[in-house]
Amino acid sequence: MDLKNIQNEWFSQFAQPLIIAGPCSAESESQMLETAERIRKSEARVSVFRAGIWKPRTKPNGFEGVGVIGLSWLKKVKEDFGFQTATEVANMHHVQAAIDADVDVLWIGARTTVNPFAVQEIANALSGTRKPVLVKNPVNPDLALWIGALERLANAGITNLAAIHRGFSTYRKTNYRNVPNWQIALDFKNQYPDIPLIVDPSHICGNRTGLEAVAQEALNVGYEGVMIETHCNPDAAWSDASQQITPEVLAELLRNLQVRNNDAPVFDEELERYRTLISELDYQLIDLLSQRMNVSAQIGKLKTDHNVTIFQPERWKIITEYAVRKAEETGMSADFIERIFKTIHEQSVDVQNNIMRTR
Ligand code: PEP
Ligand code: MN
Repeated sequence: MDLKNIQNEWFSQFAQPLIIAGPCSAESESQMLETAERIRKSEARVSVFRAGIWKPRTKPNGFEGVGVIGLSWLKKVKEDFGFQTATEVANMHHVQAAIDADVDVLWIGARTTVNPFAVQEIANALSGTRKPVLVKNPVNPDLALWIGALERLANAGITNLAAIHRGFSTYRKTNYRNVPNWQIALDFKNQYPDIPLIVDPSHICGNRTGLEAVAQEALNVGYEGVMIETHCNPDAAWSDASQQITPEVLAELLRNLQVRNNDAPVFDEELERYRTLISELDYQLIDLLSQRMNVSAQIGKLKTDHNVTIFQPERWKIITEYAVRKAEETGMSADFIERIFKTIHEQSVDVQNNIMRTR
């Protein structure tokens, strides 16, 4: 089955955006039921209740999920509160157990999407079923790997497919836990406009404060759903405590989100996509400049310790020549780049002078 022609019938039953909420991990029956009950009471417009039963952890000896016992709690959440339920599967045994326990929706985690063997095993185990499957982007910024995972499922006859954008890991520390790399998700959306795209601000942000802005940004550029980790007592959560929010905070966040109606002009959405890309590039420019100034500070220390003058004209000449050559190669005006580098260099000299003064 061609991924381009897939129709997600399961998804079409929901008003958009689809909201998925629930704890990172199932911890106990009471934690699950209290979270579900408070989501209901808060009147947050949640359709699917999520909880991880098997947790992929970066390091051993962490909490790796409660296992199959948690499936019975998910079932109780469904019976008592009427939510559809969702959990993460990483192999065929998980799939079988989840199907047996009547879990409505499965998702493939970012650490599993990277592994074609595991994805194929899951696809084979689901072959012939109508299970909705949500595929998170792989941890590394590789669009083909994300699409490949969806194709494996489509080839197994799974048509109720959606994608989850949860950000990408980086070695360098940033303000995000996983940088959004909007470009990749928007490229996905361009290529597969009919596959619903769901944003997971929790794993992008890694904190509570950024969730609303990331969710809003995603809705502005046409995402069809939001998944947010929600816990009855976030600070005490056994995994991802710093990014989870209470059901009441979730309800407030969802109330604040502006949902665009479907007949908003296409122009607006397209303009918003370009703006999102520009903002992300600006953020990267600032981050790079800060890295550059940090290196300048290191140079400043070294020069001070060795009694070398800060301003070295021959070095400045090499830098501008290089920048101008690169500018021309990429089709930008040499004058523009020269002006920018002049400013950067001045700042860099300032940083070094400050170091010298204070040592
Ligand atoms: C999760 O949703 O709790 C999870 C483990 O997510 P990810 O695969 O995006 O890290
Ligand atoms: Mn989590």
